[in-house]
Amino acid sequence: EKFLDFASGLAVNSLGHSHPELVKALTDQSKKIWHLSNYLTNEPAIELAERLTKLTFAENIFFSNSGSEANDTVIRTARRYWRLLKQPKKRIIISREEAYHGSTMAAASLGGQSFAHEMDGLPIPEIVHIDCPYWYGKGGNLTKNEFGIQNAQNLEKKIKEIGSENIAAFIGEPIQGAGGLIVPPDTYWSEIQRICKKYNILIIADEVICGFGRTGNWFGSETFGIKPDMMPIAKGLSSGYLPIGGVMINDRIMEILIEKGGDFSHGFTYSGHPAACAVAIENIKILENENLIEKVAKDTGPYLKKRWKELQNLQIVGEVRNVGMLGAIELVENKEKRKFFPKSKKVGETCRDICFKNNLIMRAINDTMVVSPPLTITKNQINEMFDLVEHCINLTSKKIGRI
Ligand code: PMP
Repeated sequence: EKFLDFASGLAVNSLGHSHPELVKALTDQSKKIWHLSNYLTNEPAIELAERLTKLTFAENIFFSNSGSEANDTVIRTARRYWRLLKQPKKRIIISREEAYHGSTMAAASLGGQSFAHEMDGLPIPEIVHIDCPYWYGKGGNLTKNEFGIQNAQNLEKKIKEIGSENIAAFIGEPIQGAGGLIVPPDTYWSEIQRICKKYNILIIADEVICGFGRTGNWFGSETFGIKPDMMPIAKGLSSGYLPIGGVMINDRIMEILIEKGGDFSHGFTYSGHPAACAVAIENIKILENENLIEKVAKDTGPYLKKRWKELQNLQIVGEVRNVGMLGAIELVENKEKRKFFPKSKKVGETCRDICFKNNLIMRAINDTMVVSPPLTITKNQINEMFDLVEHCINLTSKKIGRI
């Protein structure tokens, strides 16, 4: 049976399934070496590190096996940095509601979804959350740009409440992915950065979804003008062919860790796994050689956006949002009044199931339908997918008695 995977797994599979060059890179590496402790390091890990540092602002990389491990790593690194600077009280990490940063105890604590916290009595201590820049749901009569500034100022309020001498870092996804594809207003990140600078707080941009071309630049930080101190990465780094993640770390932090550091007791057995690194290297080469990121920025991304706008005319579509190869469709009861469906109606779930029955994979986050197509998608495939999406939303309207 044929499925259109318009989600790329979980925004992972940027080069599509079974790419022959990625399979070859893995097979070639399998004939050399499979695992060598990262105390000794290995050739693919060195090459990948060199490539990554050329791609980003950051001069250093710590390898992990997932986005969650990367986010645990940033907490430990930020706290260690301040401790070495003789400010050991700076430990609190500020995150946001509806954030998603992973599923280990620390990463889930960074996350801002209350249902995830309820399961285990999270968050762990010294992680606090502020409101998120969800204009459509919370902006009221404010323009997007007014709301962006006002919302970012929640950070300053929180800092004044708990004291900057107690705060290590602020963490945010450039675009909040698993929280419902919340695209911040243009004014938001500059205000966040102004505040972090003023109060001497590190900035962590979680690039696990936005990284490696998804927003039309190598990193979401470029798209939003963010200059982070650390960047967790995963997913699109290897297009998900093998598990690999990491944290890009700038010299401001690394120099302190090295100069004043001694041993930093942190590392994973499989950090810099040769097979995963070999696949990631090939993945980056393909993104470069086929100009895929430029294609998303200049060609397929704008085309997807143009087509996506047409969905806005449908009766139950409140807002559509797009950046690069990311798109959201917010299903609402009354679009004039921006009124949401009652949760109990499970409209998003209904739509997702209808999509699946029609061989389309589209993710539902509450009543927001989210897509993250492979970066290789063509305009014809966008058209094919668009027709199916429109059809499935109409079927959803019918099913809930709206047509
Ligand atoms: N950060 C973000 C922004 C994510 O979207 C995810 C996964 N959806 C993670 C971290 C966690 O990554 P992993 O599932 O690889 O642990």
